[in-house]
Amino acid sequence: MPSLKPYHTFSLDSYCPHIFKFSSSDEFLALEKQHANSIIIGEGSNTVFLTDFEGAVLINAIKGIDCEETNDTYRVKVGAGENWHSFVEYCMDKGWYGLENLALIPGTVGACPIQNIGAYGVEVNRFIESVEFIDLDTSKPQILSNSDCEFGYRDSLFKRELANKVLITRVNFVFPKQNNPVFSYGELATLIDPSPQEIFDRVIEIRKSKLPDPKILGNAGRFF
Ligand SMILES: Cc1cc2nc3c(=O)[nH]c(=O)nc-3n(C[C@H](O)[C@H](O)[C@H](O)COP(=O)(O)OP(=O)(O)OC[C@H]3O[C@@H](n4cnc5c(N)ncnc54)[C@H](O)[C@@H]3O)c2cc1C
Repeated sequence: MPSLKPYHTFSLDSYCPHIFKFSSSDEFLALEKQHANSIIIGEGSNTVFLTDFEGAVLINAIKGIDCEETNDTYRVKVGAGENWHSFVEYCMDKGWYGLENLALIPGTVGACPIQNIGAYGVEVNRFIESVEFIDLDTSKPQILSNSDCEFGYRDSLFKRELANKVLITRVNFVFPKQNNPVFSYGELATLIDPSPQEIFDRVIEIRKSKLPDPKILGNAGRFF
């Protein structure tokens, strides 16, 4: 039976007979139809497989980043299977600022609204315009606006009423061109009038000094 070790950051050697990656909603729906007992994961950085899982593990690999520029914003639509940190790096390269405080958080873009990821004074809901998903009961696409997601501290509707009832397929972000950097939190407060790049670099430096890299030492950060 294939090992789940590479698919969750705790890297416990549990097993599962069916492990699939899907790169579109249609592929997901076909897999879900074939496997009644299935779970969805992104990069397994908030998931631990303590025991073997007898069903199917479906790994989200829906990709794509599209940007529409308006007079005062960048509106960016991102496939849920994109790696979170690579997306933050991409934003930095493009000059779409705001996510720099959230650098180096493990996982996928699709998981970011579920617990409303946050770090160093910023939570992702500040930049989420809407979340697209498939309703697993009806297999139909749906969209929730920011306010309908009911974001809270490490919380959202996706963690409560919609838990295990949806596949998040795309997260739509909006970044104001007028950026307001946040650097009053913890160690960032020593920075003087920093650029977004300086915040990004400092957050990476701090995180590397504090948390073990899951690729070297299995862990799942803190649990939410
Ligand atoms: C070293 C380390 C540091 C961390 N630091 C932080 C931090 O600073 N701040 C913070 O907020 N979090 C932090 N985390 C937690 C983790 O990074 C987040 O929870 C992240 O969003 C998980 O993403 P993932 O793709 O790995 O999710 P997974 O672990 O794969 O999935 C988590 C849950 O979401 C569900 N899920 C995943 N993708 C989808 C989808 N597309 N549709 C529907 N359901 C889905 C899964 O079924 C599962 O229940 C840290 C984790 C680690 C290991």
